[in-house]
Amino acid sequence: MTSQVTFIGAGNMASAIFGGMVEGGYPAEAITATGRDPQALAALAERHGIRTTTDNLAAVDGADVVVLAVKPQIMREVCHELRDTVQAQRPLIVSVAAGLNAATLENWLGGELAVIRCMPNTPSLVGQGAAGLFANARVSESQKQLATTLLEAVGLVEWVADETLLEAVTAVSGSGPAYFFLIMEALEDAGKKLGLPADSARRLALQTAFGAASMARESEFEPAELRRRVTSPNGTTERAIASFEDDGLRRLFENATQACATRARELS
Ligand code: NAD
Repeated sequence: MTSQVTFIGAGNMASAIFGGMVEGGYPAEAITATGRDPQALAALAERHGIRTTTDNLAAVDGADVVVLAVKPQIMREVCHELRDTVQAQRPLIVSVAAGLNAATLENWLGGELAVIRCMPNTPSLVGQGAAGLFANARVSESQKQLATTLLEAVGLVEWVADETLLEAVTAVSGSGPAYFFLIMEALEDAGKKLGLPADSARRLALQTAFGAASMARESEFEPAELRRRVTSPNGTTERAIASFEDDGLRRLFENATQACATRARELS
């Protein structure tokens, strides 16, 4: 039987996920989403065919999975509102909120619940996300599979065995899109310094990032091997790579991801 899935919050992240689910064939009538703005909800209902309401309690009643997708600052208040219904019905809880750990959410919802914490990233909004997931001890194998199916609607899903590893996930994929935007930005600027027109430098940088990512995903070779294969001895690429290595590119990534993981720990 199809699991009934309720999203509390119908903003960017929630609509990316349920939009992807419906597109991927998940029955729209099994999805409910709540929010504050009736007009925005009506538009989502029209677009995706899902049910929408401003009534969180009615939406949670009968749900097999409750996806918490409101801003972290209001999560406590929302959990308290849902607590009695959730305690009576014990749905699987999936949170996409940054920085709130599974035990805190479980506690706010009254305790002893199956909770999955998910760290998604912004490319989910275009169906190309990468998410890290952690399940507490009460989550069953079939619930894990269900969560994988739901979140694979917007990209890649990686499970971590220890919740603190979500800090590493934050450092690699959660904040990672910004690193690649920065690289595109820097490559574009460098192209301009070499004399390319600005729009041309941007198009070349973006397409190269896209092309390299597509190749790396599709190829049987790992990225290091792909790099070696495009680096002929004494050629142009070899000069550039040697310059990156001499300037300590790997150490820069190590330092930046350490700083990111430390900040994620401070915030949780
Ligand atoms: P958003 O502002 O786009 O959406 C928030 C939604 O919550 C809106 O639909 C709003 O109407 C609704 N809402 C507000 N108060 C509510 C209430 N009391 N009951 C029910 N619904 C209520 O936010 P977003 O960007 O989708 O972020 C949602 C969560 O996803 C956050 O916890 C954030 O940490 C997490 N997240 C988002 C991204 C991202 O790329 N947007 C990435 C990682 C994590």
